[in-house]
Amino acid sequence: MKNNPHLDERWSRRRFLHSLTLGATGLMLAPSLLLGGCSGDDEEDKPAPGPSTPVDPAKVGSVAIIGAGAAGLQAALDLRARGVEVKVYEAANTWGGRVRSLTRWADFPVELGAEEVHGVNSILGRYVREAGARYVDIEGTDYIFLPPLLRSEEQAATVREFAQAQALFEELEDLDEWGGADQSMFDLVRGRGMADITLPWLNAVLANEYGTSLRRIGIKARVDADANRVDPGADALLADQSMQQVLQRKFESVLPLVQGNTPIVNVRLAEDGSVELRDRQGRVFNHRRVIVTAPLAVLKANKINFEPGLPEGIRNAIARLGMDPGMKVILKFRRGFWQPNTGSIYGAGPIPEYWATAVGRGREDRYLTAFVHGELAESLIAAGESAGVQRILQDLDTMFGPGKATDNLEAHIWMDWSAEEWIGGAYSYPSVGSSGVAMAFEQPVRDSLFFAGEHTHNGGYYATVHGAIESGQRVARQVLDTGR
Ligand SMILES: Cc1cc2nc3c(=O)[nH]c(=O)nc-3n(C[C@H](O)[C@H](O)[C@H](O)COP(=O)(O)OP(=O)(O)OC[C@H]3O[C@@H](n4cnc5c(N)ncnc54)[C@H](O)[C@@H]3O)c2cc1C
Repeated sequence: MKNNPHLDERWSRRRFLHSLTLGATGLMLAPSLLLGGCSGDDEEDKPAPGPSTPVDPAKVGSVAIIGAGAAGLQAALDLRARGVEVKVYEAANTWGGRVRSLTRWADFPVELGAEEVHGVNSILGRYVREAGARYVDIEGTDYIFLPPLLRSEEQAATVREFAQAQALFEELEDLDEWGGADQSMFDLVRGRGMADITLPWLNAVLANEYGTSLRRIGIKARVDADANRVDPGADALLADQSMQQVLQRKFESVLPLVQGNTPIVNVRLAEDGSVELRDRQGRVFNHRRVIVTAPLAVLKANKINFEPGLPEGIRNAIARLGMDPGMKVILKFRRGFWQPNTGSIYGAGPIPEYWATAVGRGREDRYLTAFVHGELAESLIAAGESAGVQRILQDLDTMFGPGKATDNLEAHIWMDWSAEEWIGGAYSYPSVGSSGVAMAFEQPVRDSLFFAGEHTHNGGYYATVHGAIESGQRVARQVLDTGR
């Protein structure tokens, strides 16, 4: 059902299509997506929203942005629109961060990271419209493996245990508050007597979509984190353009400001309020202010040293919020062996969720994306690419019949986001006991050091592209306030 933005949103509320360790398959990003290959056409843009008091760019001073993902590029765009001097330092040789699209591996754009627009009325939905991109308009049917049978969602709903799990899922999705102490989703579903047979599906919809596993996500933390959500409309998938193309069109004017291959390892706030950055090669860059959009896992691993050390609230947020390994393994078969117009397939083995990647996008429905986070991703990564792919094929054989997948694979992409040195995992999630801690990211340090990125979004859209974009808008407003 995720494929139709106008249908029932129950199952598609936060469906993230994921994965990458570009294997030996010779995958290439389109040349225009590499840094240095972008045109610098100026784009008309609305000034950053904010109070009408004029901003003095000289008073703001030069601003360094660490990270050229959606958050960093949006902040750059909004600051440039007010005449502020900006430089973006990016560790990788491409921009986009967790938005990374392959345009030549299939006859449709393959998304290694973000794939779904979580709300056609969100700011990302607006960028999609500006790019003139189309959404997929086919309704897919979901399938659930309740051993020994793979059943359509409708058939599964006739199984008593699954109907109970569905009812619990809907109850949890509709919660506005959680009065009790925090507990893991695992303890919650166990306490509510859910049958073993339903746990893989509950893990898929309550935890895997959030980037983790049932034992790690907190019910109270999640309800609290989602409490301020404003409904941005139905979820939707892009049909004819990649996510990176949509962003490229929007951010074209600021891409020339991005300096690639520049991992910042030290941020020093000087006594006079200025900022000194040092990259891994020892190069030094001086600015008046800095915005850090590095992913939570990079901050957790202390890959950037801060002098002086960060305030306690920010350290607490970095420690308490979760960010686990996340993978997409994209499988290209000689022919599809699943039902036409399949949406998602919920397994009971190493992969919580697969989806038919090409439905509504490509000519041939012979691609599946395996999407896995948390403990199951850790186990797959530990197995290694070759054994990991075998596990996945055997899992599919178990559901569809002997040899259906194993004898039929043509190629695959193994995308492990935890192996990306400057990303380190999938996306942030509300781990048990983390209620409210992310608010600390909105507090600037000495009006010199600011944080943005999906993990800093306090309006319920952490872990999304539009949440990252909104965090970039928020931080730009804060930086502009220093020039009023
Ligand atoms: C597999 C997967 C599937 C997803 N699916 C969806 C989806 O369907 N829909 C959706 O809305 N969202 C999805 N997301 C989440 C979405 O991709 C992210 O929330 C969003 O792209 C994050 O943007 P960001 O700017 O906060 O961070 P990033 O995009 O990670 O950008 C941060 C940048 O900082 C750079 N960097 C890090 N450290 C340094 C340093 N020290 N110096 C210089 N540069 C540095 C990194 O290289 C990176 O480019 C998915 C993510 C993954 C991994």
